[in-house]
Amino acid sequence: MDVFVRRGDTLWYYSQIFNINLQLIMDSNRDIQAGSISIGQRVRVPGFVAVDYRINPGDTLWSIAARRNLSQDALFLVNPNIDPNRLQIGQTVKIPQRITWRLVQGKQEYDYSTMMTDLARLERVYPFIRTPSAGNSVLGNNIPEVLIGNGQKRVHYNGSFHANEWITTPVIMTFLNDYLLSLTNNSPIRGLSMHPLYGETTLSIVPMVNPDGVNLVLNGPPPNEPHRSRVVELNSGSTDFTGWKANIRGVDLNDQFPARWELEKERNQVGPGPRDYVGERPLSEPEAIAMAELTRRRDFSRVLAFHTQGEVIYWGFENLEPPEAEPMVQEFGRVSGYEPVKTIESYAGYKDWFIQDWRRPGFTVELGFGVNPLPLSQFDEIYQESLGIFLAGLYM
Ligand SMILES: [Zn+2]
Repeated sequence: MDVFVRRGDTLWYYSQIFNINLQLIMDSNRDIQAGSISIGQRVRVPGFVAVDYRINPGDTLWSIAARRNLSQDALFLVNPNIDPNRLQIGQTVKIPQRITWRLVQGKQEYDYSTMMTDLARLERVYPFIRTPSAGNSVLGNNIPEVLIGNGQKRVHYNGSFHANEWITTPVIMTFLNDYLLSLTNNSPIRGLSMHPLYGETTLSIVPMVNPDGVNLVLNGPPPNEPHRSRVVELNSGSTDFTGWKANIRGVDLNDQFPARWELEKERNQVGPGPRDYVGERPLSEPEAIAMAELTRRRDFSRVLAFHTQGEVIYWGFENLEPPEAEPMVQEFGRVSGYEPVKTIESYAGYKDWFIQDWRRPGFTVELGFGVNPLPLSQFDEIYQESLGIFLAGLYM
């Protein structure tokens, strides 16, 4: 919601009148200096929208404000030209409305365009988040990153490395939405106030690493050739893509990282197809390159890659993981009921590479239990299990 600066206004005053944390207002207006706002300037107030209201007989600005627990001046701020003594019946005024509900509806077949629409809506209401691009997929889809917070602890979550594990994307998007709601409504999550975490951590989220693959599983082959014919051919002529994990070129993106990649290649002697093909060389695919470059650029303190399924959390790689990884995975296990597993015979994954090259905590979290793609009927249960992990990833 936009307000326009009047003589004597300060960001601190807006924070008081709307009961929104000052830092969130400052971060929603990065182009302006807190001490030097000028009259007439637009200021974004996060967590609110301005809705239209038609004046009824007997309405006064005071009564309209009082009914909604707003101060009268909050109404003046969004209606700069209003004359309170000359309200006309039927006249339309703006009313600040606090957003207290989720904008993200996670329990649906959540394809790439659904995510992009939701991200645009979240950015409008919560302009203190940023959504830079991490890169582009084979089909040219932008792979967005979401950044929340200002802290030194740089935490990274990602989802949908694997196409038919797309439910990880709406689970992560729901957490993002709940985090934002918690910040702008000063409402804790499971008793935890999120404001300190906002100051201490910078959370980086890539909700959908493999947008082409997710769309393939949910919507079928892309319309454009040669990808359309090629992907059906790679799927042995079938148009049922429910078993598809790879990107649109049939490369498994979580087998693409330079962490004993040759061993993974030996282990999975398959060509391009639905799963397990390591590619011609490490980091041959644009989605894997985007994740590697992002990880180098951001210098994450820890990473959690969300997959399905199995209700386990992998936390080791070749004994290179740092000692602090173990208490962290114990906490993740405690809050989710999932089982920590140190290693399996598997290489070249994103978290393997992160542990190997940074010697910092990296985790692969396998959400839910069953056959991929997990049914949406599991969504609520999976969200409850993963919520504790999302929180612990920030506070640990
Ligand atoms: Zn997976």
